[in-house]
Amino acid sequence: MITEKAAAKINLGLDTPFQYKNGDQEWQMVMSSVDLSDYVDLTLSATSQIRVNTDSGFLPEDYRNLAYQAAYLLQKTYQVTQGATIRIRKRIPVAAGLGGGSSDAAAVLRGLNRLWHLNLSLTTLAHLGLKIDSDVPYCVFSQTAFISGRGDLIQLLPELPPFWVVLAKPRVSVSTPSILRVIAYNEELNHPEIKQLVQAIKQNNYEKMITTMGNVLEPITSQHHPEVQPLAAKMRQFGADVVQMSGSGPTIFGLCNKQSRAQHVYNSMRGFCQEVYLVRSLH
Ligand code: ATP
Repeated sequence: MITEKAAAKINLGLDTPFQYKNGDQEWQMVMSSVDLSDYVDLTLSATSQIRVNTDSGFLPEDYRNLAYQAAYLLQKTYQVTQGATIRIRKRIPVAAGLGGGSSDAAAVLRGLNRLWHLNLSLTTLAHLGLKIDSDVPYCVFSQTAFISGRGDLIQLLPELPPFWVVLAKPRVSVSTPSILRVIAYNEELNHPEIKQLVQAIKQNNYEKMITTMGNVLEPITSQHHPEVQPLAAKMRQFGADVVQMSGSGPTIFGLCNKQSRAQHVYNSMRGFCQEVYLVRSLH
């Protein structure tokens, strides 16, 4: 058996400048991973069958699971005759904006690449992963990156300045497609300065990084889910350096460059929200 760690992602920057004719979004994102992970155990099976099971009561264990889709896609594309059993130990909140499903799928691609001795590069796995979800290519690398195109153009960025991350997930779950459907491209959207953010990271400049962050989807999700902004306001009040929603939400995160401050924000938020995490940023 082999185990792959599937880390949650946060969007330090998220913008969509336009939509393609077929409905796909053009993305401009800065993504990074945090030390909150699912664990994906992979075992060879005697037959060609792919089986998925999880310790979460909420997730499908059939073809609807993104981990299953990843295994199936890899098996079919490279005509693998072996199968696998995939056990997901779920720690990342589901439908939270933290990319848990995409990260599990990416972990399956990396893990089965080893288990089935395919010797594919991460770039090849990322390319394949795009067929599953636009966040899978990033998750194959799970390393701070500037993402553009449909999620397929990945520019790895240098290591971030060190900081702590407090995550708070309101009780609601958000369906990403339902948010993407209502983006009004013809109206004034609050586009963040992604290029500046990329530059700040290249300069290892934490102050500039936190002032150039932004998520174009935050006002849209907040409008549909009124519990998001009060939680963000609390986190600001408790002293996080910057507070922002991840992905299509509803999870909000606050960054602190001082551990004692992060601990204070975490302790304070626990009085208002059931699901709060204090984690380090990964590279
Ligand atoms: P993103 O920000 O990439 O849209 P998310 O964090 O908002 O992702 P996920 O946790 O990835 O959302 O789950 C989104 C949907 O995918 C859920 O409806 C869930 O049932 C489905 N899903 C399929 N496989 C998985 C998996 N392995 N882990 C989590 N969700 C999964």
